[in-house]
Amino acid sequence: CENMGEDELALLRAVTRTLKNSESELTRMDRIVGDGDLGLSLTHASNTVDALLDDLPRDPSQALTDIASAVRKAVGGTSGPLYAIGLLRAAHQLGDLSSTGLQIDPEESPSAEDLRPEAKLWAVAFDAGVRAIEELGGAIVGDCTMIDALRPAANTLLEVSASGASVGEALSQASLAAQRGAESTRELRARKGRASYVGDRAVGEVDPGAWAVYLWLTALAEASRE
Ligand code: ADP
Ligand code: MG
Ligand code: MG
Repeated sequence: CENMGEDELALLRAVTRTLKNSESELTRMDRIVGDGDLGLSLTHASNTVDALLDDLPRDPSQALTDIASAVRKAVGGTSGPLYAIGLLRAAHQLGDLSSTGLQIDPEESPSAEDLRPEAKLWAVAFDAGVRAIEELGGAIVGDCTMIDALRPAANTLLEVSASGASVGEALSQASLAAQRGAESTRELRARKGRASYVGDRAVGEVDPGAWAVYLWLTALAEASRE
């Protein structure tokens, strides 16, 4: 029963480090448009994930399942359950894809059209996770939620990985798409979540949940290039 490799652990650590370093920024943002707990919730989620790191299974689908269940138990607010279901659905999709053979046999050289199967695999899993969040939360692009960053990031991952990019390249493009999406929420009046109760107070402010997505995706992109 082998544990998760150093490369994958470095990616997870980059995400949790970034979220913890962003606690006060996210708290400040969520105080303006919400109830101010987002920074604390994501720091708590990060500490919970950090505590698991030494014992994560080697299989990425299993590891993500463990992370999802820890997040579900430990993190409240709206973000906790949404991230938990997203992680769980991504894990399931990853498991299904691995068993149906999108992964290449290390004994065989990859075919030209399947040069970078790992980027496609992660893109399809990421998209499935975002779809689960869309279904549970009922938000679509333009509602001024984390979906404004997650949906364009998922679409970009699918497009860029289909053209044969590496995981690092696909994540870099996706983090730019998430940044543009998060910044677009400045002009929006929220139609979902707590920010929809405060009316014009939230106009002119970037949605904190969308900004958090941009921050952790950027951390993933940077760590995957190292
Ligand atoms: P709460 O409002 O319960 O304190 P959090 O602070 O954990 O929630 O998270 C707030 C973020 O959750 C918002 O900035 C927004 O991005 C996201 N969010 C709120 N409602 C939804 C929803 N229905 N679907 C997707 N994301 C949502
Ligand atoms: Mg909040
Ligand atoms: Mg709350």
